[in-house]
Amino acid sequence: MSYFTHLACSAECGAGPFDPRERHFLCPSCALPLLARYDLSAAASWPREALKGREPNMWRYREMMPLLPGDEPVTLGEGFTPLLHAKRLGALVGLDRLFIKDESLNPTNSFKARGQSAAITRARALGAHTIALPTAGNAGNAAAAYSAAAGLKCQVFIPKDAKQPFVDECRLYGAEVTLVDGLITDAGRIAAEQGKPVGWYDVSTLKEPYRVEGKKTMGYELAEQLDWTLPDWVVYPTGGGTGLVGMWKAFDEMEAIGWVGKKRPRMVSVQADGCAPIVRAFEEGTEKAAPWENAHTAADGLRVPRAVGDFLILRAVRASGGTALSVSDAEMIRDMVVIGSYEGVSAAPEGGAALTAIRRLVADHRMGRNDTVILFNTGGALKYLDVLHQQ
Ligand SMILES: *Cc1c(COP(=O)(O)O)cnc(C)c1O
Repeated sequence: MSYFTHLACSAECGAGPFDPRERHFLCPSCALPLLARYDLSAAASWPREALKGREPNMWRYREMMPLLPGDEPVTLGEGFTPLLHAKRLGALVGLDRLFIKDESLNPTNSFKARGQSAAITRARALGAHTIALPTAGNAGNAAAAYSAAAGLKCQVFIPKDAKQPFVDECRLYGAEVTLVDGLITDAGRIAAEQGKPVGWYDVSTLKEPYRVEGKKTMGYELAEQLDWTLPDWVVYPTGGGTGLVGMWKAFDEMEAIGWVGKKRPRMVSVQADGCAPIVRAFEEGTEKAAPWENAHTAADGLRVPRAVGDFLILRAVRASGGTALSVSDAEMIRDMVVIGSYEGVSAAPEGGAALTAIRRLVADHRMGRNDTVILFNTGGALKYLDVLHQQ
């Protein structure tokens, strides 16, 4: 049983409701993302005690997930990842309450599993036969794995300079891989051109409305794991921004159903110096982010020159009183090794970038010693280990 009712436009145009028993991608009137909506007044009678004894995966919040009567999730046990109190790392950087949300422990080693579990659950329910997407790596691995679990075909479009382990792992799950001469935005264009005439189901970030529903469960988990309080800071390495937008949505939903109060964490969007469209827009005070030219960084998940949900990311960061900042590749690679050697956690460069950002916010006296700070380790190190030899 879920309180899922419909889709509606996330922007001012407000178009909707759209029937979730049909395929929808971007808003048909303004071409911005659609978001899933729930019957929040009915959901207010759903007590959080109902979670007790449920399996430790993201579908424990199934009442607030995009399921229609008769649907079963496509799951590999994603979510409910550990929230580790990082005491040694905290002592190093000057924080008593630093926690690592360790998303490296998801299927296929990143939080992309959450988004694809939700998206491919809906795709299968909608009768899709082939999943298609552009990817920098992790999203493709997750899509390939969940497509296999759902018995669907998968077409992955990946920049040809992507790290080899990402390409190999797509093939491990039986996906067909196309190497693209260009960036993820070029891969997206080619995937759409090839897929449209043959009816592929495109699960591109935020062009497809359900990945964000999978990633929002990180917000539900933070609240549940912190005993129904929210932290002071959430530090999030941002590419397409699905996780940040999703968590912000989760906080609003939880407040509406009486699970948490009005307090919100300050949201920190972390990007790479070589690709920082959100940081630039944040600093310039604009609503949307202009595309970044010549994007380059060792953190493949952050190499997103243009995000369709840019305005949603910027709104959440600003409304929260948070900030956006970028870090160099050398810093993030140094800090992925610091996370590993202080805490035994396998961190992708994206996770390292979050640590660099935290160090800077402590040094600037924005974060205080007693603040509860969440470092999002969005993926594991194994597929990126070549970066350790590039420095
Ligand atoms: C995709 C990815 C990101 C960026 O995630 P978004 O929610 O799209 O901003 C960060 N880290 C890793 C490891 C990723 O794979």
